[in-house]
Amino acid sequence: MTTKRITVAYGDGIGPEIMEATLKILKAANTPLQYDVIEVGQKMFEKGFENGIDPNSWELIRQNKVFLKAPITTPQGGGFKSLNVSARKNLSLFANVRPIRAYAPYVKTHHPDMNMVIVRENEEDLYAGIEYELTDEVVESLKLISRSGSEKIIRYAFEYARINGRKKVTCMTKDNIMKIADGLFHRVFNEVAAAYPDIETEHKIIDIGAALIADRPHTFDVVVTLNLYGDIISDIAAQVAGSVGLMGSSNIGREYAMFEAIHGSAPDIAGKGIANPSGLLNGALLMLNHIGLQKYAATIQNAWLKTLEDGIHTGDVYKEGMSTQKVGTQAFAEAVIARLGQQPANFEKTDPDKLIEKNISIELSTPEPRKRTVVGLDVYLDQEMDSVDLSQKIEQLALGNLYLKVLSNRGHNFYLNKEVKAHTGRHWRCRFCVPEGARVSNREIVQLLSELEHAGINFIKFETLCLFNGKRGYSLAPGE
Ligand code: NAD
Repeated sequence: MTTKRITVAYGDGIGPEIMEATLKILKAANTPLQYDVIEVGQKMFEKGFENGIDPNSWELIRQNKVFLKAPITTPQGGGFKSLNVSARKNLSLFANVRPIRAYAPYVKTHHPDMNMVIVRENEEDLYAGIEYELTDEVVESLKLISRSGSEKIIRYAFEYARINGRKKVTCMTKDNIMKIADGLFHRVFNEVAAAYPDIETEHKIIDIGAALIADRPHTFDVVVTLNLYGDIISDIAAQVAGSVGLMGSSNIGREYAMFEAIHGSAPDIAGKGIANPSGLLNGALLMLNHIGLQKYAATIQNAWLKTLEDGIHTGDVYKEGMSTQKVGTQAFAEAVIARLGQQPANFEKTDPDKLIEKNISIELSTPEPRKRTVVGLDVYLDQEMDSVDLSQKIEQLALGNLYLKVLSNRGHNFYLNKEVKAHTGRHWRCRFCVPEGARVSNREIVQLLSELEHAGINFIKFETLCLFNGKRGYSLAPGE
């Protein structure tokens, strides 16, 4: 059998300990792999690489196509970017797949029947990291959702469900509040679902969805959701299943794939030799499955299940009465190695023939382009003024076809009751509209901004208000 080269990063915190344990098991199982090790994380941040990686390492990752990565500590603030987010974006790893199941009774959980897969959108949402300080006290984080990005992950979730014999796909959004962004994801879900009549579908608002994962996780099968929600619910699900230290995760793109544990670098236990290596090991097993080494994945998984059954547990899952031995990271790895070739007695044995290589190909639809018409403008101000003075000043400007419709501050429309003086901070939104049927040209936008400038009104950004094929493409202001 030919040897496959993969790229490996030992990461930060508990990363080096759990990677050492994981590779030890892979080597003991004679897995035909060769490893190109790259340095990532804290050391690279300290050397001034803002993404925590030497740009030359991307070449190696691209060459090998498969990347096994231990967790990384992202420094707070200071302009540093998360390497995880950069890797997902640079390599177009659009699908983050997190299988989460209970290992009861050997790992204690209140939900022994849970067995779900969270399919998390991996490239968009608030993780674009586009943030601004708008005024002295107001900041902004942009949530970007695209139709094609949504369709890609939702189709992936349905294809994954079909190939893996899963029966239901649940979509989770917060479209009761974010009607446009989350609304798009939910709408695309409904459109895609129509092509999979063999699969049951449902939608849950993310807050009750997260609560139900904590309370009745066995009722979920495949869950598809936006990036941030997926991040949160996968930690909830993993913890409910027994420990965040148990579960692996794959990040899949059309060309490249990255495999990791779902948990972070656990600085609180780093260097103590007590971390559970199972999360990264399970990530590595997903990798073996992905590259066609199912036989090795099955052998290691069976040995790992037997180790759990034998009660040999790291501290995070150790329970008096059920566990027989509390071990550290390397001793756990040795226990798995000692059981290579053995089968679990009670857990269902992993059959390599039943592990399917999950090369899922996605065909995106090509919707008709829609006609975009600009019918207004929201101009944001950083202005020390009360609502009455500000609205009077704006009304005196020569605005042509445009008129002031809304003057809001933190979502409250003060223009509804123009006589009441209110002063709630410097961050104002002025909504300018044109009469029905008219449109706003770029020249009118420039003129409006110029009028504001001449009047000494300090604008800081603007957003156009558009109709798409005649349908409103912006949220209404309160009372509008
Ligand atoms: P964490 O997942 O590292 O730790 C949360 C808790 O779970 C801690 O109490 C920790 O001790 C425990 N835990 C985690 N993994 C364990 C294991 N294998 N065995 C036993 N216990 C384990 O989350 P955090 O503390 O919020 O984040 C720490 C750092 O990790 C942060 O810098 C964060 O940015 C980073 N992070 C990285 C990744 C990644 O590289 N993919 C993911 C999440 C967080």
